[in-house]
Amino acid sequence: MSKNILVLPGDGIGPEIIAEAVKVLDAIQQTSSLNLRLEYGVLGGSAYDAEGSPYPESTQSQAKGADAVLLGSVGGPQWDNLDRPLRPERGLLGIRKDMGLFANLRPAILYEELADASTLKPEVVAGLDILIVRELTGGIYFGQPRGIETLANGEKRGYNTMEYTESEIIRIGKVAFETAQKRGKKLCSVDKYNVLEVTEMWRNIMDELSKDYPDVELSHMLVDNAAMQLVLDPKQFDVIVTTNMFGDILSDQASMLTGSIGMLPSASMNESKQGLYEPSHGSAPDIAGKGIANPLATILSAAMMLRYSLDAADQAARIEAAVKAVLSAGLRTADIMQEGMSRVSTSEMGDAVVKAMK
Ligand code: NAD
Repeated sequence: MSKNILVLPGDGIGPEIIAEAVKVLDAIQQTSSLNLRLEYGVLGGSAYDAEGSPYPESTQSQAKGADAVLLGSVGGPQWDNLDRPLRPERGLLGIRKDMGLFANLRPAILYEELADASTLKPEVVAGLDILIVRELTGGIYFGQPRGIETLANGEKRGYNTMEYTESEIIRIGKVAFETAQKRGKKLCSVDKYNVLEVTEMWRNIMDELSKDYPDVELSHMLVDNAAMQLVLDPKQFDVIVTTNMFGDILSDQASMLTGSIGMLPSASMNESKQGLYEPSHGSAPDIAGKGIANPLATILSAAMMLRYSLDAADQAARIEAAVKAVLSAGLRTADIMQEGMSRVSTSEMGDAVVKAMK
């Protein structure tokens, strides 16, 4: 059966890194029974330039028909002064909302070969492999009421609302338990149940859900402790599940344990496992067009796409093993360059991964 993939190169280094991920998908196509149909579209600043909107209708209808979306990155200084609804980031928020992407999966993996890229001691982080499952469409970022008002005495008051319904917690919990089942079978749910009622309910629901997943060991941790433990002993974690705001902060913190933003993929999924896959980094306008960007985060995002949306975990593992082999062979783009290693360009790195897959 054929699978439809919408490819959105985006802005800045987006087109350069997407080109390398597409090389890898072409190689999969040629050497497996998978039938991948790639269609290209526009999103972000380049979409605004071409069609006057960061998320034009053409892209909206393409996204509806896709099994998965592979995105480069959006944004750049040339679009920073546009009205907010026209800015590139609105394109990203638009497609996430449209696709109903409520689960954000962000791995933080530190390959042994890159252990000294981290600011932490190599023995603390070498071999790190954790996954943060963040709720993406609820919580305090979306709760109502919200706003800034002026009180009768003239003082201003700003307020937001943290809220979750039972069903929102259950669906993110299920994604987290099922993901843990496919990995190390350990799940840590992060909350602030001692202060926030909404996360007391979160904790109770996770406990209830755990009865359906007896093979997964569930633990709970307060968010302030989780922030400390991530720096103190990050390898204690396998999968972490948490709310939108806590996940926003903890996933950035976890990604920095690895020291190399150019290596980190991410996935966002909806209930029917349709997903948007993109590197965790931005469009890096400072290095765009120079052929030096690291394409590995995007290539690893394509691997996540194969595993989570296209039922091709074997092909995902092939890509991940090829990335590891290329690093072991000493190939490095500028951002992860180390003494004694061979510096390669964006396209040379993509070619090397394709070669290692054969
Ligand atoms: P950034 O992630 O683009 O860049 C931060 C630093 O990391 C830069 O020095 C950059 O050169 C480097 N870097 C990033 N990716 C790299 C790669 N693959 N290889 C080598 N080096 C890499 O973050 P920023 O500078 O804060 O943002 C730049 C633009 O990207 C902004 O317009 C921002 O809004 C946008 N952005 C987009 C996304 C997204 O598309 N999801 C995410 C974050 C930022």
